[in-house]
Amino acid sequence: MNAVTFTSSLLSKTHFSNNTFELRYRCPKEFSFIPGQFVTMTFEGNMVRAYSIVAKEEDVLVLLVNTNPGGVASKYFDKVQVGSEINIKGPYGIFTLRQTLLKKVFVATSTGVAPFIPMANSLASSKQELSFSLYFGERYLSDDYVSSVYLKPVLNDPRFKYFRCITRETPENLKPFLKSGQNPLTREGRVTKVVFEEESNFTDTEFYLCGSKDMIIDVKTKLLQKGATKIFIEKYG
Ligand SMILES: Cc1cc2nc3c(=O)[nH]c(=O)nc-3n(C[C@H](O)[C@H](O)[C@H](O)COP(=O)(O)OP(=O)(O)OC[C@H]3O[C@@H](n4cnc5c(N)ncnc54)[C@H](O)[C@@H]3O)c2cc1C
Repeated sequence: MNAVTFTSSLLSKTHFSNNTFELRYRCPKEFSFIPGQFVTMTFEGNMVRAYSIVAKEEDVLVLLVNTNPGGVASKYFDKVQVGSEINIKGPYGIFTLRQTLLKKVFVATSTGVAPFIPMANSLASSKQELSFSLYFGERYLSDDYVSSVYLKPVLNDPRFKYFRCITRETPENLKPFLKSGQNPLTREGRVTKVVFEEESNFTDTEFYLCGSKDMIIDVKTKLLQKGATKIFIEKYG
């Protein structure tokens, strides 16, 4: 779809965890996107920021925003209330699924998980013979809005593995979950560690990385050392 511009009002704002919000905006019914694409918004007249599209349901656009960076957009989203209007443009971007039957591994921190939600949902509905995994870094077990809100139907797909990589939970809280062999699979530590404990075939796998600069540099460097060549990146900060 060619990019379009529309003025949109905020329909709902839900706080998940650690300054992460789901925002639902009204959008034209005919608006469509390819999983992995983003829209842009303009703040204070000329400050443009990008937001990956989580979903488009009928005439509603779903975005995930983290306000920890603290700049102009973060300040706006911290305060924004239902009914506020903003200009949205899109869709844009080429961070989309390669049309191959190779295994796909998604690695995300914070709202970097946003593009992987529609990607995982589209792979689940495609019935293609390929496996796909998501590694998502979270601090606490209770931060896991991704599996409970967005990926519930995909969790039962035998081709999909969802590793929630938990960094701050106490060992006692974590222990019962570490044993489970079913999605969501719980692991202790950062995605930068867990990916390399779980994955073994680096040459015939596509790796998609999204989120903070530090995570991307770290994971990409290790992937290259392991011989990976199919690495696709969307850097947020
Ligand atoms: C293609 C693309 C898609 C994006 N999609 C999303 C999305 O779905 N959800 C979302 O919350 N953000 C997303 N971002 C980041 C977003 O565009 C803004 O940068 C973010 O909302 C912060 O804006 P700001 O004005 O508050 O701070 P900025 O002035 O943009 O940034 C302040 C500082 O924080 C850093 N920073 C910005 N974002 C992050 C981050 N996520 N993690 C670590 N450091 C960061 C910047 O490099 C800068 O140093 C995306 C960025 C790009 C390029």
